[in-house]
Amino acid sequence: MDLEMTTGLAAVGAAARLCQAVRHEMVTHGTTQLDKSDKSPVTVADFGAQALVCKIISKHFSGDAIVAEEASEALREAKNATHLENVVRFVGAQVEMCDADGVCAWIDRGAGKASGRYWVLDPIDGTKGFLRNDQYAVALALIENGVVQWGFLACPALPRGDSRDDENGTGSIFVARRGQGALELTLDGNGVGPVRVAAQGDITQARLAESVESAHTNQGLAAQLRASLGIVAEPVRMDSQAKYAAVARGDAEIYLRSPNAKTPDYRENIWDHAAGYLIVEEAGGRVTDVHGNALDWSQGRRLENNIGVLATNGVLHDAVLEQLSKFLSHR
Ligand code: AMP
Ligand code: MG
Repeated sequence: MDLEMTTGLAAVGAAARLCQAVRHEMVTHGTTQLDKSDKSPVTVADFGAQALVCKIISKHFSGDAIVAEEASEALREAKNATHLENVVRFVGAQVEMCDADGVCAWIDRGAGKASGRYWVLDPIDGTKGFLRNDQYAVALALIENGVVQWGFLACPALPRGDSRDDENGTGSIFVARRGQGALELTLDGNGVGPVRVAAQGDITQARLAESVESAHTNQGLAAQLRASLGIVAEPVRMDSQAKYAAVARGDAEIYLRSPNAKTPDYRENIWDHAAGYLIVEEAGGRVTDVHGNALDWSQGRRLENNIGVLATNGVLHDAVLEQLSKFLSHR
């Protein structure tokens, strides 16, 4: 197995276990340790997941840059001492030799430059979903000279493809290598099998996935689009890049993210898309922006040359784009 594969799987798997532990404590002992209302679980899980992933990647790829969402600066402030203690406690449950300075240094390995060869990390994508007990993801990708080569997506709260009705069958990792397809595995890295988009060619039968948070996408526009395409099903609302996983394994045919009317100039963060994008493409689907342009990964931390995202099973892509163009103002 490639070193990228084993390292990426170990990294997102460890981060997923940390997130599950934080969530468990939040739910069962919310009052004594982590208070849901003050967002501390997000802080603890975000920083902890980033520390773990950066540590594990650095061990095997010490020369690679890592571009991650968080930095330790806030965590080092005196007023956040309890958060830092909690981060060290949760990270220490996953790896040995862990202290506050070490954890902060691992987190700050994520301040790398987005050029050449670099890893891209969203330690918790869908933080609102994490707090709501809904979907969230740990998203990791490897980009080389503007090309996404690897994508790893851990979805700890997603029922697995091999046991969707089994209560214990929760938590999947999706992994894709450019040109070599996409797989679904358990959080421990055991194989479940290849993932493939749905073959559905009848647009009226398509299922459209979108953000739960109305601030992150234009749900009204998506409703108009569904009506005009004759799509019967209600939208599948999900937080995080779990939406890409849903398209990749055939639980939905379309994932649309078009800018909310309040933030028309919003540009997508690369860590919100890189892993999911490759997983859908390698599962046989197609991903562009809402105007049909290829996603341009060469522009640093954001997709500066793209507006929104459209991921589909491929077969339906052009039909959706054509109809979508009628609802969008052209650039
Ligand atoms: P989702 O889980 O699909 O709601 O997406 C979560 C991601 O939305 C977060 O990681 C943010 O980076 C991103 N986000 C924040 N503000 C916006 C916005 N105005 N438009 C689109 N995405 C946003
Ligand atoms: Mg995110």
